[in-house]
Amino acid sequence: MAEHLASIFGTEKDRVNCPFYFKIGACRHGDRCSRLHNRPTTSPTIVLANMYQRPDMITPGVDAQGVAIAPEKMQEHFEDFYEDIYEELSKFGEVETLNVCDNLADHMIGNVYVQFREEEQAVAAHNALQGRFYSGRPIIVEYSPVTDFREATCRQFEENSCNRGGYCNFMHVKQIGRHDRYDDGPRRRYGGSPPRRGRSPPARENSEERRAKIEQWNREREEK
Ligand SMILES: [Zn+2]
Ligand SMILES: [Zn+2]
Repeated sequence: MAEHLASIFGTEKDRVNCPFYFKIGACRHGDRCSRLHNRPTTSPTIVLANMYQRPDMITPGVDAQGVAIAPEKMQEHFEDFYEDIYEELSKFGEVETLNVCDNLADHMIGNVYVQFREEEQAVAAHNALQGRFYSGRPIIVEYSPVTDFREATCRQFEENSCNRGGYCNFMHVKQIGRHDRYDDGPRRRYGGSPPRRGRSPPARENSEERRAKIEQWNREREEK
């Protein structure tokens, strides 16, 4: 740490904007980065830090008891989350992009990036979500500098060829509806435009559990 600071102290480096923060809205050095992270005071994009908690959080591929989780179960777990959050966010405006990171490094794991059509919609969501809880954890919401997700996303990951794996510095965006099982029914239409890249949330029947979770968001907020 001290060594790291010493290596940049007095150099030109500390005057330059951090390209990772600027492009991807996340940098592994966090507040200790030698370059500037210009946090926007407002933006059409918000980031919900580390919000998605994968079921194999402790060891990849297995649950907390060490039992292997089938890939379909993992995907289902994620898609439930995605639909849950899409529904909630849509209350604030038109969601243009909803990206959940599959990266494993601390500064990106489970990050949810939400770009609204209008800045005011992002502001409304930011203000409403601040201080709320999701699944028993506080929601950490910030404005994000990312407005062009093509620049932030790892293309190799989309082509299944990223050799940096979960520690890649570019967004590895979790995919929705890769399975055929969603293609045989009519997709539910949401108000406004669906997220880009055709990632509409899948239609699911069993939504009682999710409703309960959303109720819980609001209850926990009131109790605070
Ligand atoms: Zn940085
Ligand atoms: Zn990558």
